[in-house]
Amino acid sequence: MTGDLLRLTVLGSATPYASMDNPCSGYLVSSGSTRVWVDAGSGTLAQLQRHVRLDEVDAIWISHLHADHSADLLTAYYAALFADIRLTAPIPLYGPPGIADRLAHFLTNTSARSPVESAFAVHELRDGHRARVGGLTVTSRAVAHGIPAFAVRIEAEGRSLVYSGDTAPCANLTRLAKGCDALLCEAESAQAPAQGEQVHHTPEDAGDTAVAARAGRLIVTHVGRFLTPEQAVARASARFGGPVDHAAPGATFSIG
Ligand SMILES: [Zn+2]
Repeated sequence: MTGDLLRLTVLGSATPYASMDNPCSGYLVSSGSTRVWVDAGSGTLAQLQRHVRLDEVDAIWISHLHADHSADLLTAYYAALFADIRLTAPIPLYGPPGIADRLAHFLTNTSARSPVESAFAVHELRDGHRARVGGLTVTSRAVAHGIPAFAVRIEAEGRSLVYSGDTAPCANLTRLAKGCDALLCEAESAQAPAQGEQVHHTPEDAGDTAVAARAGRLIVTHVGRFLTPEQAVARASARFGGPVDHAAPGATFSIG
């Protein structure tokens, strides 16, 4: 079944807070029996359970520690240790440097990582980090978001999906996305800032990144509150000639 080779399910894509019908950023990426929860924004743990139990997830990958991408790690911790879920081992958690300490301070109100590390086996990302998760190859590159932040390329069976995380257009993202079958790219900004550091894509930027990377298709996500998904798709399509879709909550995409 070709649809099984690499599949993206959108758990949520809202920013910077969940709407009534759209959680914040979160995705389920699967290939065969391997499943990775990519970003854990507010509300995504609830939607994850439509597809998989938390203890059936092979790994969690977090792009950066803004709450709209990571807040549900806090409730996932309670789920993993203090409820009906029985982990056979801590869930592998890939995230920015310092993620274990940040979780520990919030969850234990001290710097003690125990029992946080009973829930999560933490692997800190660095630029060029590569991991094998079941049938998936997961490659992370540092991107430009004003805090430690990463984009990811997930590959299986010759298919490839690249997710920008949150970032301004940058060479590392374009390189990571080279020739990918699908680019899941943020399009947060209605316009680039007139002054100060750019830390997001506009829809036009997303289209340009897809063109530069020669992506097979573009899926715009993380569309800000001053744009509609339809506007974001139309504006990205003015730059990128391939298929452009919006990462609507609940949508699934077979990659490649
Ligand atoms: Zn962010």
